Amino acid sequence: MKTQELLSISKEFGSPIYIYDAKKIENQYNKLINAFSNIPNLRIHYAVKALSNISILKFMKHLGSGIDTVSIQEVKLGILAGFEPDKIIFTPNGVSIDEIEAVSKLGVQINIDNLSVLEQFGTKNPRTPVCIRINPHINAGGNSNISVGHIDSKFGISIHQIPLLLRIIKNTKMNVNGIHMHTGSDILDIEVFLYASEILFENAMNFKNLEFIDFGSGFKVPYKKDDVETNIEELGKKLSIRFNEFCKLYGKEVDLVFEPGKFLVSESGYFVTSVNSVKQTTSTVFAQINSGFNHFIRPMFYNSYHDIKNISNPKGKKRFYSVVGYICETDTFANNREIEEISEGDLLAFKNAGAYSFAMSNNYNSRLKPAEVLWYKNKALLIRHKEDFKDILNKQIELDFNL
Ligand SMILES: *Cc1c(COP(=O)(O)O)cnc(C)c1O
Repeated sequence: MKTQELLSISKEFGSPIYIYDAKKIENQYNKLINAFSNIPNLRIHYAVKALSNISILKFMKHLGSGIDTVSIQEVKLGILAGFEPDKIIFTPNGVSIDEIEAVSKLGVQINIDNLSVLEQFGTKNPRTPVCIRINPHINAGGNSNISVGHIDSKFGISIHQIPLLLRIIKNTKMNVNGIHMHTGSDILDIEVFLYASEILFENAMNFKNLEFIDFGSGFKVPYKKDDVETNIEELGKKLSIRFNEFCKLYGKEVDLVFEPGKFLVSESGYFVTSVNSVKQTTSTVFAQINSGFNHFIRPMFYNSYHDIKNISNPKGKKRFYSVVGYICETDTFANNREIEEISEGDLLAFKNAGAYSFAMSNNYNSRLKPAEVLWYKNKALLIRHKEDFKDILNKQIELDFNL
């Protein structure tokens, strides 16, 4: 989006604010579709947890996407947004069997990642088709917090447990219609991804009724200029060849599924905040903004890098700042970062704030969550009101101790 557009939206709706560019989401979606144009049955299931605003979900539906969900609440949101249950995949981890059964009753595709749950579910519901989440033990993630394929990971059924998995399926006579892997966010090395895919293909031969193979996600997007990113075109070319070969060998054209979150929405998002004060200490110039990790936790939680632009002074001379928040705890967004000269009251825009940004916001320090705006066809559409003080008290019960 253009600096001017960000500036006028932030002034119109107030800051802090999340702004999403619908066109960028659409472009990313089409990029993925085009990279896999040689796959006859490609299905994209947007990972709701990255950014779960209902209008974003409706936009994904408008693009032709399905969704991937991790809680029954996300499933319900998806249904409210208009997704048919058969366009929804449920890929939870560590949730109760009751929740899995409740989601299954809605007609949603269940993806099971635990042998104990598989056996319980299969015994009770042998006719319900289920997908199996395999852990190929590939360490593909960029950060240990988001790498979910390694040997000690809590995710998926280990490839070393396939014999027991097959025994459970045989005993329960359940119907496995899909297999899945999701090796973690930030895949840099396509070869590693392809290697994990081979493990999936090999194991897929154990199942006779597959309708789809789900390769999860984890595509890396650029965070700064010259940043490495997953080469989708190359992955598309290489994986498509192998996938189509697999289908021949398998004797059936199964669907190829991806569940991207970050890839679709990360770059669409901008988080715009205003500078409360510029504070010099003996060693540092701090820019203190009207936000903190209550609104935007990725820099602290994942040590993620987010480009910062002073949209009030976009042509200004660059100087070094540490950008920090107003939370009474260390909440550093950027250390010793070169930014166009900052004055108090300036608006700073953080890039890559579409995925896992608003979605992870909270009310710490009894602060209000910001508004969300979708920039669609050159219009700024409000898709979430900013909170007010009532929201802080909502659901609290006030006791009276004067009795
Ligand atoms: C979080 C998640 C995704 C999305 O991951 P991204 O890195 O945002 O693309 C996909 N599938 C599953 C099962 C997930 O838990």
